[in-house]
Amino acid sequence: MTQRVAVIGAGPSGLAQLRAFQSDAAKGINIPKVVCFEKQSNWGGLWNYTWRTGVDEHGEPVHGSMYRYLWSNGPKEGLEFADYSFEEHFGKQIASYPPRAVMFDYIQGRVKKAGVRDWIRFSTVVRNVTYDADSDKFTVTVHDQATDRMYSEVFDWVVVASGHFSTPNVPEFPGFERFNGRIVHAHDFRDACEFKDKDILIVGTSYSAEDIGSQCWKYGCKSVTVSYRTAPMGFDWPDNWREVPILQRVSEDTAFFADGTSKRVDAIILCTGYKHYFPFLPDDLRLKTRNRLAAADLYMGVVYVHNPKLLYLGMQDQWFTFNMFDAQAWYARDVIMGRIAVPDDKQALMADVAEREAREDAGTDNKYAIHYQGDYVKELIALTDYPDFDVDGACDAFVEWKNHKAENIMGFRNNSYRSVITGTMAPQHHTPWKDALDDSMEAYLRN
Ligand SMILES: Cc1cc2nc3c(=O)[nH]c(=O)nc-3n(C[C@H](O)[C@H](O)[C@H](O)COP(=O)(O)OP(=O)(O)OC[C@H]3O[C@@H](n4cnc5c(N)ncnc54)[C@H](O)[C@@H]3O)c2cc1C
Repeated sequence: MTQRVAVIGAGPSGLAQLRAFQSDAAKGINIPKVVCFEKQSNWGGLWNYTWRTGVDEHGEPVHGSMYRYLWSNGPKEGLEFADYSFEEHFGKQIASYPPRAVMFDYIQGRVKKAGVRDWIRFSTVVRNVTYDADSDKFTVTVHDQATDRMYSEVFDWVVVASGHFSTPNVPEFPGFERFNGRIVHAHDFRDACEFKDKDILIVGTSYSAEDIGSQCWKYGCKSVTVSYRTAPMGFDWPDNWREVPILQRVSEDTAFFADGTSKRVDAIILCTGYKHYFPFLPDDLRLKTRNRLAAADLYMGVVYVHNPKLLYLGMQDQWFTFNMFDAQAWYARDVIMGRIAVPDDKQALMADVAEREAREDAGTDNKYAIHYQGDYVKELIALTDYPDFDVDGACDAFVEWKNHKAENIMGFRNNSYRSVITGTMAPQHHTPWKDALDDSMEAYLRN
């Protein structure tokens, strides 16, 4: 009987899984029945921008954490699909840090070409997954929001690709309940123009802190104060930007920091990270990991050690993104197709995880971490027919990117890199990032 595979989520990871199966089908190979459940009404995951915050039109938690004016925070040369280059999609090489709309268009291009849209059941939330050891099958219960109908189907395999930058980690500081201004987590940040002429406090030193602060600066906030827990980001920030130690408390309009200084602020933006959150999975199937390169309990970073018929994509912290999700999806496909054997020994699976963790922990700097993840991508693609590409070249682009940030944090996006897929050098963008206020696709692609 034809095997059935459920894919949860149609973001870049879930779409990679569909494309992996479709590439087999295109060669005339019999593939399982693949059903992708996506809670939003369109694909693209986080790249499918929404203005909504809180709950969506159906009362579900909004998945989106992206904001207007978001440009790729790393060079596109590090994430390019090996089977679908930017040049193939746009008909020309484009500059290295595309805005969100351009990235979304690129993500869509490949799966439109593959013709997999009708494998996806949109506006359908996965509510519950159970596993029955006797039948060795999963029952997936979903809620079709369009028809307001709940139903269950049985699958042989489940691939979880629901992302992990969507459920905010929201700390509380003394005085928050009486602060007069807005307190918002990065997940609900949408438009930097809201903070024009405002003094803003950012809590945290993550990518979100750096980028949301930069957005607010670009679109005219009055000042940025960033409060760090362990160490400042330490970039050469503009004059109206400063970094201070951990926030201690706030009054109605003022924030007080551990070094005894204070600052009157209009708004507080919590860039305090995200949680791996899978409300649809019971204890025995639910991944519990920190946001790290060697995710806990995943053999080869993909196969759940406590139930090897459950696969997870994209659960690691990410230097590499789209092409790493591809490498994982091709690997997952080949496990499901029986081409790759997963050891039938839980100790062996756990030893693999422990080895990956130890190797990650041995690292001391970003370069090590970048190559650690690059080596992981190489390890996976060597096992499948995913097109080989110059992963070390992509690592070099990431290292250069980090150097460019250290040189000029408000100017790093003006740099160009060489594609490791086509070998073409990206052109310089026509306008420096800080002056490019219109980030529409038309504006970006204009020569
Ligand atoms: C603010 C921000 C900026 C980023 N910028 C970059 C960048 O510049 N470059 C880069 O490479 N990466 C960036 N990322 C990283 C991002 O994680 C990846 O690019 C990518 O979106 C991850 O893909 P994914 O498919 O794993 O997860 P997601 O994109 O999160 O997609 C998961 C999908 O699963 C669906 N889903 C969730 N729960 C359910 C459910 N119960 N039932 C059905 N469907 C469900 C969601 O609706 C969503 O469509 C950024 C992330 C954030 C938060």
